[in-house]
Amino acid sequence: MGLKDVRKFNFALLAKWRWRFISQDKGKWREVLESKYGVELECPQLPVKYQSRWWRDLVKVCREGGGEGWFQKEVHWKLGRGDKVRFWEDVWIGDTSLKSLFQRLYSLSVYQEYKIEDVGVWEGSEWKWRLEWRRDRFEWESELEANLFEHIVRADVKKTKNDIRVWGTEELETYSVNVAYKNLSNGTREAYHASFEFIWKAKAFPTILSTTWRVFLNRIPTREALSRRGVQMSSVACVLCEAKEESYKHLFLECEYAQQVWSLCLKWLGFKLVQHNDLKDHFVSFHIPQVSSKQNLVLKGIWTAILRCIWDQRNSILFKQEVVDAEEILQMAQLKSWLWLKHKAAFHSHSFADWLLNPVICIKSIK
Ligand SMILES: [Zn+2]
Repeated sequence: MGLKDVRKFNFALLAKWRWRFISQDKGKWREVLESKYGVELECPQLPVKYQSRWWRDLVKVCREGGGEGWFQKEVHWKLGRGDKVRFWEDVWIGDTSLKSLFQRLYSLSVYQEYKIEDVGVWEGSEWKWRLEWRRDRFEWESELEANLFEHIVRADVKKTKNDIRVWGTEELETYSVNVAYKNLSNGTREAYHASFEFIWKAKAFPTILSTTWRVFLNRIPTREALSRRGVQMSSVACVLCEAKEESYKHLFLECEYAQQVWSLCLKWLGFKLVQHNDLKDHFVSFHIPQVSSKQNLVLKGIWTAILRCIWDQRNSILFKQEVVDAEEILQMAQLKSWLWLKHKAAFHSHSFADWLLNPVICIKSIK
């Protein structure tokens, strides 16, 4: 091989300038740039026409790929005392910002812009988180809050060290064009971020979305997950097929029964999907090109409903001795997605029978 994608390689080269700018408070590069282009270089409020052409190009290159762009996704923080890192918006624990991981809680937070040092206090040598909300949480939101604390409990806030910016999954303190190029060419990382961005936008009830979210974070108590946490189990076999270990990936994607459900679902919707080894890739690619992006969020909603219904039936088999039935899983998902659409008044004229017979026509009618 050895052939490089020239466009992407140029992106990686150019982005080095941006890295220099954001990673150095002071220094030669910053001085040169600021004397030439002014101190407001990175001010987002500055109208575009006052920004230099060169800088605009640079920002554009870094935004490539949609959303906040590929560059921003590679920039992480190594946490010190939390004086620079924004609690919700920056990536400082795990691979994703807390804002995209916990969108619901973010919208409820009183202090969306706060730095980490303002979201907690030192009690002696112990750091205590202090989060405040705009209103009382619903039950499922309290569950999210518990998940949030579980997620940040391993954060290592230090009393005296400064926060520093690091780059890429390798957490390098200096920018590497080669690593940037490698990450740019690697689609999996994109899918990982995209899957979290999609979850809370998908058209489904919040409790259903929350199940998907827990699955993606591997927080769903499958037998494999429980035994990994040290819970004594008589068996770790999949509750549906009893043939393989019940990991979330097996249960929702690889299990022969999950495969049956997905293929029935695709038959119902009338489209094909390439085989995926990763559940998040499966979710991201679950869409039809001929409908709008808003309408595709209905498909994402159906996907999350399928996931939930597989989980529900798995529990019914385990606790109520029911038997596995792929058709029934699909039917429950069809009902749940239709109820949501009805509830949101997106469907004025479509009956449940319409939904079962012509789902794509119904989806296309949504404005
Ligand atoms: Zn199985």
